[in-house]
Amino acid sequence: MSETISFPCYFVTKEGDGTFRGAVAERTTTDLPAGDVLVRVAYSSLNYKDALSASGNPGVTRKFPHVPGIDAVGTVEASSSDAWKPGQPVIVTGHDLGQNTWGGLAGFIRVPAAWLVRLPANLLARDAMSYGTAGLTAAQCVEALLARGVSASQGGEVVVTGASGGVGSIAVGILARLGFNVAAVTGKPAAAELLTKLGAKTILSRKDVDDASGKPLLAQRFIGAVDTVGGNVLTTLVKSMQRQGVVAACGLVGGIDIPLTVYPFILRGVDLVGIDSVECPQEQRERIWSNLGGAWSLPLLQEITTEITLGDVPTHLARLLKGEAVGRVVVKPVK
Ligand code: NDP
Repeated sequence: MSETISFPCYFVTKEGDGTFRGAVAERTTTDLPAGDVLVRVAYSSLNYKDALSASGNPGVTRKFPHVPGIDAVGTVEASSSDAWKPGQPVIVTGHDLGQNTWGGLAGFIRVPAAWLVRLPANLLARDAMSYGTAGLTAAQCVEALLARGVSASQGGEVVVTGASGGVGSIAVGILARLGFNVAAVTGKPAAAELLTKLGAKTILSRKDVDDASGKPLLAQRFIGAVDTVGGNVLTTLVKSMQRQGVVAACGLVGGIDIPLTVYPFILRGVDLVGIDSVECPQEQRERIWSNLGGAWSLPLLQEITTEITLGDVPTHLARLLKGEAVGRVVVKPVK
């Protein structure tokens, strides 16, 4: 299909003792999996899932050695698909990229044609990765609230958990841009200033949404919620919604079990919506990427973005695993 090209990548191996080790390595395009389209990666980004993949979480990655990176933006280098031509700027997020298919923390990826989305003209490649899967997911959550009738004109609070993280910070920014009264929940008091700049009206601590009473219903507070935490925080939010409130649940950093009764659903009409960015429909992806370059773009995007190279990846993955990350990290795939 094309000449062999060598490129740097973040390469994770499974050691004899069962531990996982990541390091910058050199590979060639012949090492890449089969696929329709070879993409020269301009930028990737780091998401919580990449930290799970690089540390050997079997729910994310089972095949090693492996190159993580669930996000990539770049240009088509070679294509056997009529749909894509060399030189076209494209975004790839989700599907199996960076899970069991070598991912974006590399100079090149090779993927099925159906995984590609056109990079819209209103979005710079680097900005596309500042948003990345986190931005796509945040926007899906916002769309889910809007589609179910949650409106800024109601004046009530929409709460965002894990607010200083990737999904959370972008969700706070988009909701504020759309005129919502946003309450941001963070475990990092130092992030309050940034969240306020992003548009949050109220800053809450994690314990404010981590009810221990076990009551089936709590005081009605929020009209909408974007939850990246799961576990008892999600349970608390569902119990704290106003009538017809909508909760978009996308994350699990705080746990996977949600002990609930049916009361919030049958007495208050609460809607709990699951968000999946991995297999997000193509039409929704195109609409969201275009929105992120236009009406939903965040003026403070650069302020929440840190740019690194492959050698810095381990430090930032460790921060993600510890819940210490703030905002977004874009990765230039060079040594
Ligand atoms: P980040 O690590 O960037 O953000 C997560 C944030 O959650 C942290 O910064 C922290 O924010 C908070 N947090 C961390 N640990 C805990 C804890 N134990 N209890 C409560 N809060 C905690 O991750 P991402 O934004 O990339 O992803 C967030 C979640 O969303 C992950 O679970 C990820 O797997 C999921 N996700 C799901 C997608 C989907 O398609 N459904 C797509 C993308 C992400 P703070 O200190 O401000 O509280």
